[in-house]
Amino acid sequence: MGLRRYHQKRDFARTAEPRGREGRKRSSGSFVVQLHDASRRHYDFRLEMDGVLKSWACPKGPSFDPSQKRLAVHVEDHPLDYASFEGVIPEGEYGGGPVIVWDRGTWRPEGDPHAGYDKGHLVFALDGKKLHGAWQLVQMHRRDGDKNWLLIKKDDAFAKRGAAGEIVDQRPESVKTGRPIEALGGASAAVRHRGEAGASPPAATARTARARSRTATRVASAPRARSSAATRANGGRAGKTTATRAKPRTKSPRVDPAAVAGARRGAVRF
Ligand code: MN
Repeated sequence: MGLRRYHQKRDFARTAEPRGREGRKRSSGSFVVQLHDASRRHYDFRLEMDGVLKSWACPKGPSFDPSQKRLAVHVEDHPLDYASFEGVIPEGEYGGGPVIVWDRGTWRPEGDPHAGYDKGHLVFALDGKKLHGAWQLVQMHRRDGDKNWLLIKKDDAFAKRGAAGEIVDQRPESVKTGRPIEALGGASAAVRHRGEAGASPPAATARTARARSRTATRVASAPRARSSAATRANGGRAGKTTATRAKPRTKSPRVDPAAVAGARRGAVRF
C-alpha cells in the first residue's frame, strides 16, 4: 500500500503528525498501539512490516480474553516514525483529537507474515509493556479488499478471562508519559462524542469557530473525502450504496454490530 494515502489525507502544515517515509523493509519488528480519541475513540494497532506500519483501527481495543473478537478495521499504512507520535491532532484535520502511545514493543510472526497477511490470517507474538503472548488478526470475509478484521488473543499462558482480560480498562495510560489521554486536552470528549449517537456527522458538532471556517473552505473537497470513506468501508468496491449492503454476516455476538455497521457506512472515521 505504501504511504501515498497517509500523505494524501493529512495537511502537514497543520498537524504535528510525522510526514515520515518508508523505512528499511523488514517483515517484522516494532509494534505500537495508539489510543486515538477522534470522532469515535479507538485503538490504532500497528505492526511494522515492509518499511511501514500496517494499521488497524480497533474501536474496543485489545483484550486478553480469547473469546473476545475485537473488530479491527484495516486503515492506511503509517510511517515508522508514527510509532512515537503522541499529541493532539487539530480539530478539523483528519483524525482530529488526542493520541497517546498506549503500548509499544516488538512483534514476531508465526510462520511467513506475507503469506499470513495475504490470506487474511496473521498469527504473531507481542512483547510490549502491556500486551504479551500470542495474538491473531483474522480478516472477517476472505473477499478481496475486505477491511474488517478481528483482533483475537490466542489461548496461552497470558490469556485472561472476563474483566481480568480488559487491559484497556486496567491500564489506560500512555507508556511514554504514564499520563491518561485526558491529560492532553483537546476538545472535550463529551462534545466530540455527541455526534456518535445523532444523525449529524461529528464534524458538524465539534468544531471551534476557527475550525468551522476552515471546514467551510474545504467544502469543495468534502464529497471526494466522503466517497473515499464509502469506498474504504465497502472494501474498496465503489458504487455500492449503504442501502444495498447486507447486514454483517458474522454470527459472533462478541463483535459489536454497531461498530461493524458504522464502519461499513463510513460513519466511523479513524
Ligand atoms: Mn486513528
